[in-house]
Amino acid sequence: MRVIKLPDSIELPTLLDPWDLQEPNGADATGIYDFYRNLADGDLTTTKCRDCGKINFPPVIVCSNCLSDNLEWVKIPETGELYAFTEMRLGAPLILDQLAPFIVAIARFGDYPDNGVQISGIMFDTKYEDLRIGDKVRWEVVRVEGPGDRERYWYCFTKA
Ligand SMILES: [Zn+2]
Repeated sequence: MRVIKLPDSIELPTLLDPWDLQEPNGADATGIYDFYRNLADGDLTTTKCRDCGKINFPPVIVCSNCLSDNLEWVKIPETGELYAFTEMRLGAPLILDQLAPFIVAIARFGDYPDNGVQISGIMFDTKYEDLRIGDKVRWEVVRVEGPGDRERYWYCFTKA
């Protein structure tokens, strides 16, 4: 699994470190804990509505289409299609500035929009000039190390 190391000197604001907000059960549970647990298991997942079939990304606790809370977790198809991309050279937000320059991409997975999702993310192992709209894209789970010793996982894209 790819590893992204963050310096220990940075204290992550809560909004950039949602792990603290995740509880599997109880009054403080957000309902999307499984998203992070599934990432730790190597799977990029999201919620699909059992009532109308809408797949939301990021995962939700109430369907954005029909307001049902009858949702199930589904794995995002492993390959998708590059829909848009740009290269971030300057002005990246906290922490990400250390990765610059990097590619930010929007990729579509599954049969978007009816039975698929559109996801944005950082794309590794490629150059801006080597990318074309429609290129095959693969998601990959990454382990984020630091600050501290908590395990954190996220996802990125690579060319398929
Ligand atoms: Zn629905």
